[in-house]
Amino acid sequence: MKEKKMKPGKFKSQSRPYPVKAKKSLGQNFLQDEAIIESIIAIADVNLSDRIFEIGPGTGALTTHLLEKAASVTAVELDHDLVLRLGEIFKDSKGLSLLEGSVLEMDLSGYLLESGFEDGKFKVVANIPYYITAPIIRLLLSLPVRPERIVLMVQEAVADRLAAGPGGMSLLSLMAQYYADISKELFVPKTSFVPEPKVDSVVVRLVPKRVFSMDDDRSLFRIARAGFIARRKTLANNLSSSFRIPRKEVETMLGELLLDPLVRAQELSIEQWISLTQKVNSWEKAKAEEKAKAENEG
Ligand code: SAM
Repeated sequence: MKEKKMKPGKFKSQSRPYPVKAKKSLGQNFLQDEAIIESIIAIADVNLSDRIFEIGPGTGALTTHLLEKAASVTAVELDHDLVLRLGEIFKDSKGLSLLEGSVLEMDLSGYLLESGFEDGKFKVVANIPYYITAPIIRLLLSLPVRPERIVLMVQEAVADRLAAGPGGMSLLSLMAQYYADISKELFVPKTSFVPEPKVDSVVVRLVPKRVFSMDDDRSLFRIARAGFIARRKTLANNLSSSFRIPRKEVETMLGELLLDPLVRAQELSIEQWISLTQKVNSWEKAKAEEKAKAENEG
């Protein structure tokens, strides 16, 4: 990961040294609408004491405004041509640290810690490449140094999935809502980008509410992954076949949570997943103890 620290000074916000041919393979759709950029800054509540982490600064449309409103911006861009271009645009700008590489391949936690980012004291603001939306969200929500808030432009369908309630839940919404409060903030038509993407976008805000714990995560998602394994089957069937728990026993657990025995995974709330995880764990523990006791006695 190469890092360029820009020198302090003034920068011209709209300077564009040469035209850019967008690379589809890198999810490049550049935001052109100044009013939308201003709204994103407002949704992130950017102020002069803020440290901002931006993913995919592209041609610098959002970066320019972030630099005007925040104390500093650290931006990571994968495209070498754009890194060169950004270096030129912001050569005199104050407070920008530009990193070249993939946000998914760098040691982001290590970088944030080494660079003095503190838990709950920085913000992530980004128009992210759509082909890696889910891994980026997973990465941001598993950081030990948590952002105070995360404001992301995502495809409208992804925003709907992230913010879905019981009835439309998926593994992505479960993970995201377990770790953060999520709100859909702003509809952004596809005409706001160049080149124009196929679908409209929505700006979402994620406010982390829970410290990432590998153990909780493993336990909850072991059950949830099994629950979602065949979406057309009932949750009781999926759990019963994955964990070899008699279906009747799973149905009893669901009944204790006031859930219908025929309920499907997408219908559960976060709280119900947490309670169900505890029940499955206790059932497995009791079975293991029973087995150990029988072996000792035998
Ligand atoms: N922020 C700019 C804007 O709003 O106009 C550009 C947004 S564009 C949707 C996504 C940007 O992410 C592109 O500049 C692309 O090169 C960059 N990118 C793609 N994959 C990346 C990755 N793995 N890590 C960091 N940046 C990436």
